[in-house]
Amino acid sequence: MLVQKLIELLAPAYCVGCTKEGDWLCRNCQTASVIVPAPACYRCEKLTLNGDTCTGCREVGGLTRVTSAAVYGGPVKELIRVLKFKRGRSAAGVAARLILQHLPAVADFDLVTAVPISPSRYRERGYNQSELIAKIIASQVGVPYRSALMRSTSVHQIGRSRSERLAAIRGSFQAIRPVDGRRILVIDDVLTTGATLAECAAVLSAAGASSVQGATVARR
Ligand SMILES: [Zn+2]
Ligand SMILES: [Zn+2]
Repeated sequence: MLVQKLIELLAPAYCVGCTKEGDWLCRNCQTASVIVPAPACYRCEKLTLNGDTCTGCREVGGLTRVTSAAVYGGPVKELIRVLKFKRGRSAAGVAARLILQHLPAVADFDLVTAVPISPSRYRERGYNQSELIAKIIASQVGVPYRSALMRSTSVHQIGRSRSERLAAIRGSFQAIRPVDGRRILVIDDVLTTGATLAECAAVLSAAGASSVQGATVARR
C-alpha cells in the first residue's frame, strides 16, 4: 500500500487534454477545453445566482446550492477517470483547484466533508477521491475537514431516473458525529441527478447542520 501511494504521488502526471507532462490538467487545456456549466438549481436546472437551489426546489434541510466546476466531458471526463481509477492522490489537487475557482469568494460554510464511498470500494481503491479533494479545499479555505458520514451500502445507480435513485439511496448514509449549527460543504466528484448529495444533506441536517451545500468537480 505504501509503495502504491508513493508511485501515485511521485510518478509524473500527464495533462488529460494534451498529454504534456507536469499536471493532470494544464492551464491551457483548462482554459481552452473545460466547459464551465452555467450556475443552476441542481434539481430543475433553472439558472440561478451562484447555482443556488431555486425557491420551488428548496426543501427543509435540503441542499441550498450545488457548485459544479465543469461540464462532464472532454478532458474533465478523463480527469474523473484518473481520480477514480488510477491516481486519485496526485490528481486531487487539480480537481480541488477547479472547484475552488467556482466557490463564492467569501466562504459561506465552516466545515468541509465528503460523500463517503462504501467500505468495500475503499479497500479496493485505497482512497476516497472526494475526501482527498475535500481536504485540500478545507485547508485552502481555512476551515476544518471532518468525515461526518458513513456509507453502509453501495447502490448501483447507472440507468436509474432521479426518483429511482433517490428511493434507492435513502438510508445508505449515517451521520458519524453531531454537526450542531455547522454550515457544511459536501464534496462529490460528479453530479448526476443530485440524489446522493440531497440524501447527504438530509442526514447532515438531521444531525444538526444549520445548512448544507454541495460542490462537485463535474456536472453531467
Ligand atoms: Zn493540456
Ligand atoms: Zn429548482
